[in-house]
Amino acid sequence: MPTVMREIVIIGAGMAGLAAAQRLHQAGLPALALEARQRVGGRVWTDRSRGIVEFGAEFIHGKKAVTWDLIRQAGLTATLWPPEALADSATAYRFACQGRLLPSSSDVPARTENLYELVEHYEGPEQSAAELMISLAPADDLAAQFALRRLANVEAADVTRLSAQALGLDRRKDTAGWGDDFHVNDGYDSLATFLAQGLEVRLNTAITQIDWNETGAMLHLANGQTIQARRVIVTVPLGVLQAGTLRFCPALPPEKEQAISALAMGSVTKLALWFEQAFWPPFAFLHSDGIVPAWWPVYSEQGAVLMGYTGGPAALKLAALGNEAAIEQGLAEVTALFGSAARETFVKGQLVDWSSDPWARGGYTYTPVGAGNARAELATPVANTLFFAGEATCTNGHPATVHGAIESGWRAVDEILTLAQPNTQV
Ligand SMILES: Cc1cc2nc3c(=O)[nH]c(=O)nc-3n(C[C@H](O)[C@H](O)[C@H](O)COP(=O)(O)OP(=O)(O)OC[C@H]3O[C@@H](n4cnc5c(N)ncnc54)[C@H](O)[C@@H]3O)c2cc1C
Repeated sequence: MPTVMREIVIIGAGMAGLAAAQRLHQAGLPALALEARQRVGGRVWTDRSRGIVEFGAEFIHGKKAVTWDLIRQAGLTATLWPPEALADSATAYRFACQGRLLPSSSDVPARTENLYELVEHYEGPEQSAAELMISLAPADDLAAQFALRRLANVEAADVTRLSAQALGLDRRKDTAGWGDDFHVNDGYDSLATFLAQGLEVRLNTAITQIDWNETGAMLHLANGQTIQARRVIVTVPLGVLQAGTLRFCPALPPEKEQAISALAMGSVTKLALWFEQAFWPPFAFLHSDGIVPAWWPVYSEQGAVLMGYTGGPAALKLAALGNEAAIEQGLAEVTALFGSAARETFVKGQLVDWSSDPWARGGYTYTPVGAGNARAELATPVANTLFFAGEATCTNGHPATVHGAIESGWRAVDEILTLAQPNTQV
């Protein structure tokens, strides 16, 4: 098969790859994006089988996230979650222990929030989130346990590895407004579809190997084809780099290899349970000590969904049950909390396990203890041929987010544009 020759090729059409491709297009440098899946968006993946349900990223985290500019350009809208009507923390944030909702008189929610914030805003010597928690509260304190579970969930992390220092630094660097969450009304994937308009994206095209040197790269496709490129933007998730299913020849520089193994790809599962209608008391987020540690409702004209979210090692345990048993587990937990209406109105369920997804191999990244420099190292270009983007490469406090992925794509394009203006497309 003849080798196709291109100036700039982007590997991956998730939000980082699409943002990079769109910016190059706007700069008059059309790039070819190669995507292994049969859809764009990557870890942004919207299900529309019965209302809009996000199987991947769900919220825009922050009023000032760069995502908003694109939302406006696309003519999309997004809505604050929880809505103002639910904003009272007593009703919005509920806690459940051993299958029962904690009474509103409980001090556990407020103490959990306090401990969570102390870890989130930590500024001090390097230690894990779990170690830090031990210095803040006894291990058998319910609030400490809830706070650690919530950290594992939000960061998709093993809290015994999660660097409290790196987490605190990211929160201090954040400019998006972490803490305010918004649902994209027409589904997050509408944004990916908008970004992909007018771009050259080849779907069902997995890259297996990149041969590279100072003058360019040869990409080997799974279908046996080759594509030659002067510059390549690699946006594949950290999990794919760690698995070695995308090979580099010669191997990447040792600092880059070390960064790839030092950073952690966290595990996440989403468990969507569809019901005929809502049967639960009003709440926005429910924190539980069950197998599924967090739930929130999603409403549509076709009924209501309880979305179960599990991050960190607990996600792997849930995933190990398999789809049917995980659904049953979730349904049992929801029934214990809200009564038999759960089973009576249940329509269907779906477990989405990101760790077993070959093109993600995890949910999103977190920084383990001692890996504070790994994101910067991962982001560094190699030989002016290989450029790296994707949420894992964010050094601006926005890793593990959609807006961070978008910004990383733009950053990689800026790196290319600051080099000598590339030749036009071959
Ligand atoms: C369950 C879940 C919930 C989340 N919730 C939120 C949230 O509420 N808000 C938020 O801001 N962020 C959230 N995130 C994180 C957010 O989804 C990611 O940070 C972001 O989408 C990552 O974009 P990316 O472009 O870096 O990577 P990806 O979206 O993973 O894109 C990389 C692309 O590369 C492709 N690829 C991989 N290997 C190859 C190969 N060999 N050849 C060709 N293509 C390849 C993949 O198919 C993929 O499309 C969540 C993530 C998950 C998993």
